[in-house]
Amino acid sequence: MPISKNRGTRRGFLAGALGLPALARAVQTASSPYRRPKLKITDIRTAEVRVHGHQLHIRVYTDQGIVGQGEATDAVRGGAPLVSQFRFLMMGQDPLNVEALFERARTMGIFAGAQAGQYVAALSGVEIALWDLAGKALGLPVYQLLGGQVRNRVRLYCDSGRNPGGEQSKAGARQIQEMGFTAVKIDLDNFADPARFDRVNWTASNGEIEHMLAKVAFTRELYPKQIDLAADMHGRYDATTGKRVAKELEPFKLMWLEEPVPAENVDAMRDIRQSTSTPICCGENLYLRHGFRELLEKRAVDIIMPDLQKVGGLLEGRKIADMAHTYYVPFAPHNVTSPIGTMASAHVCAAVPNFLVLEWHWIDSLALWRSWVKEGEIIDKGFISIPERPGIGVEMDEAAARKAQVPGTPWFEPSRGV
Ligand code: MG
Repeated sequence: MPISKNRGTRRGFLAGALGLPALARAVQTASSPYRRPKLKITDIRTAEVRVHGHQLHIRVYTDQGIVGQGEATDAVRGGAPLVSQFRFLMMGQDPLNVEALFERARTMGIFAGAQAGQYVAALSGVEIALWDLAGKALGLPVYQLLGGQVRNRVRLYCDSGRNPGGEQSKAGARQIQEMGFTAVKIDLDNFADPARFDRVNWTASNGEIEHMLAKVAFTRELYPKQIDLAADMHGRYDATTGKRVAKELEPFKLMWLEEPVPAENVDAMRDIRQSTSTPICCGENLYLRHGFRELLEKRAVDIIMPDLQKVGGLLEGRKIADMAHTYYVPFAPHNVTSPIGTMASAHVCAAVPNFLVLEWHWIDSLALWRSWVKEGEIIDKGFISIPERPGIGVEMDEAAARKAQVPGTPWFEPSRGV
């Protein structure tokens, strides 16, 4: 409405008295009903990279030029054809209805594996891209769309991934401390351990258990007491071994022992948890809220570690964290992704009260990590500060990321057909 027609009204008086057309416009805008952008999805494209495992990067395009980016991980070989199916479903749809798009894509696949695995992992990447897109369209950082901020920086732990022992481990520990990390994780399982009975045996021998304890003792000595230590068995042992290792590790006061047995047998995990004071953590190979329900109901874990790039995405991750919070179980997401996926996870970690710590797994690919996004290094002394930029808040540096492209796979080339 023109300012002249506002004479005699409070709005017109304010503008006229101050003589500021800009103020008048601002008042007009502030008191007008807000109309959110009306967008339509025009394409969804993918690129595949291999750094720590296999990742599927996803971009959702719209009719107004706004593009959302997401990342899926681990269970993503064969994910691109699944994304094509989601694209078929989502073309022409409003990308801001994230929950509806997610639910439709998931229920579309109930008879096609949509309960877990590749289907949910690929959908996770699309869901994350939709949140990035929604944030950009609305001018808000993603955490704001997930309930707002309960913390403005997110603590990371460094997964050293190395077989602890020797001078190389000592140098690695010095580097991790110089980088400011307050928590680290090591691997306990070792297929090459000469004390193993055989390559596929699930029972650790006394010798193998001794080697595991020695790794923890060695690593514990490398770090001051205030640095937390976690240890991962990768779900490769039987329940008896899991119980023995958890019991023997009690003096080390670990932050957690991860997946002493696979997470698929909740009763076995609960038996181990009940047998020890060592905190038990699991969940990187579980999917959706449904994957965590029984685990929480049976009090089978002390800490959960869903991987947000495969469990169902950011809102699903928030919902899982909230379920866990009703059992007073902390949330410590697994994460092996690039700065894009890591920052996406950090937005969820910033928005949930029961966050403990987020994984970071790129210490062996530091140069790539620091060049992957245009914003450069996003970690400062073992923490990620959450950006206020709209969306996830980091943008891929194409030239850097393409160094890790899986040969023979598309690089965000336009899709053909509808
Ligand atoms: Mg693990």
